[in-house]
Amino acid sequence: MLSKIQKITLGTKEWADSNVNCYLGCSNNCRYCYAKKMAIRFNRRTEDTWRIMIPNQKNIKKGYAKRKGRVMFPSSHDITYESLEGCIIVLEKLLNAGNDVLITTKPRLKCIKKICRLFFKKKELIQFRFTITSLSNELLKFWEPFAPLFEERINALKFAFNKGYMTSVSIEPFLDEDPFTLVETLYPYITESIWIGKMNYVFTKNIKSKFINFYNHIEKINSKENLLRIVKRAKNYDESIIRIKDSIHNFLNKNNI
Ligand code: SF4
Repeated sequence: MLSKIQKITLGTKEWADSNVNCYLGCSNNCRYCYAKKMAIRFNRRTEDTWRIMIPNQKNIKKGYAKRKGRVMFPSSHDITYESLEGCIIVLEKLLNAGNDVLITTKPRLKCIKKICRLFFKKKELIQFRFTITSLSNELLKFWEPFAPLFEERINALKFAFNKGYMTSVSIEPFLDEDPFTLVETLYPYITESIWIGKMNYVFTKNIKSKFINFYNHIEKINSKENLLRIVKRAKNYDESIIRIKDSIHNFLNKNNI
């Protein structure tokens, strides 16, 4: 079982030069959330209160200048119905300052429709990066209990794509043993890239025995054999589109593979 904490690669450095966040906590409450782990470690939230999203008024109200390089927004919470209003205020300031913004989210269709409508004139500054980790709603419901199901996420991807936005997907952490069925399903709606990464951290406190299979499944799919299979399969695609994340490369390097 994955109980050892491995070195975390948050994705930030691979994707952007800086991050902006405007809420503390995230109602999706993913069982592998590193931001939650850090918030608990530094006594900012507890296991129970992480789900309640508190606006960071300072970050919502302040001004944003043009930054060097790409800005990832958000990185430690999601754009949900409760955070949408604050996120739109911040996004507007970032875009008005001329920033290139990577919008990362487990997409809710209504939120994406609103963002697409509001910022259509700035769409050349926006790239969506939707996190879609599995085709299986059973796996999504377990690992990302309050995030949207697969159908809503792919519909959001299709919507943004059809509106002419730049689109990309993060399959991190991949939850299907073979993530390439998902890759093939998403591929037609991608203008930029699809990133595949592994689960780096998982909350293992008080696991109920009825859920043990979910954890065993993650251990199995993160075996070096399966990771090697994934790296090899990725070579069948354009390497500028199908990207393997450092979380996989680092694991394989660490194990001298
Ligand atoms: S969506 Fe991201 S920030 Fe929110 S709980 Fe899941 S992993 Fe954490």
